[in-house]
Amino acid sequence: MGQPYNPNAPVQPVRAPAMPQSMKCSSCGAPLTPGSGLALVVCAYCGAVTTMGAGGAAEMIQKHYMLENKLSNESALEAGGKWLNKGLFRRKVAERSDVGQVTLRYVPYWIVPTSVVADFQGTKNVGAGAGVGMMAHGDSGAKKAAGAALFALTMAAAAAGSQNRNQPVNTQPQVIRVRDRIQMQYNIPIVAVRGYVKYQPDDGFQFQLQNKMNFDKRQTGGVDVQSGDVTEAEAKSQAAALAHKFAEKQAKTRVDNLESIQVYPTTYDGELLHAPVWFMEYAHKGKQMFILVDGSSGGVMDGERPGFSLW
Ligand SMILES: [Zn+2]
Repeated sequence: MGQPYNPNAPVQPVRAPAMPQSMKCSSCGAPLTPGSGLALVVCAYCGAVTTMGAGGAAEMIQKHYMLENKLSNESALEAGGKWLNKGLFRRKVAERSDVGQVTLRYVPYWIVPTSVVADFQGTKNVGAGAGVGMMAHGDSGAKKAAGAALFALTMAAAAAGSQNRNQPVNTQPQVIRVRDRIQMQYNIPIVAVRGYVKYQPDDGFQFQLQNKMNFDKRQTGGVDVQSGDVTEAEAKSQAAALAHKFAEKQAKTRVDNLESIQVYPTTYDGELLHAPVWFMEYAHKGKQMFILVDGSSGGVMDGERPGFSLW
């Protein structure tokens, strides 16, 4: 099963497969001039992506899709600004920030279907009220009776609490053991350009793949379509690492103290997606920050916001 998962292990740098100095587009035959180490070369004429196959021969990536950009420059700025102002203490951050420029690019992502099973255990601090659900699951008659009695007590406490919400309802917290399993499915986007760390959403963002279409250069509106240099195999191992993070985060919402977790991610063959991404840079109190807006859905994919402490 390989090495045990260590979230703190550095990501192994993997060298992209070498590309020949000159090659032809596998789709239209136009000459390609791959930069050094590019694994996914976009044809300037037809937009097809050529890669090096396992046998060392150039081949075209068949599962190549795109999303359509639906945002104008102004609406991208507006979406970024709204996100920036979200939250009570962040009002008017956008106005106080010096918005630099927005740039639209078609950025390649490997979309890696990933399923995760995670077994975890830990403890949860509960009051008498929160404990009712656990008690009701008891299989002995005595436990059920105890649960019912506790439930009655809790109702009384809740009723009292609703009359005066400032009074603590429960003064006797308990700790219960939790042992549970998480099962999740993701289509994890892995940015296929090594230098584009900022374009890698790490918080569970997913593209709206139901809107995807076959890649067609005419639909890009002349916007720059980026080549890539991350192989699908690399993308799969990155997706597995992200799936670990997601499972851990999910487990932590179910326990107060996570004692152990075993994560088993499975990644499947994916597809290459060119997504329209608005990259918005801004300066806040002299600090450079960025926001990424998905040009297809208008949602913010990732970004940096000033912390509360900044003013
Ligand atoms: Zn071509």
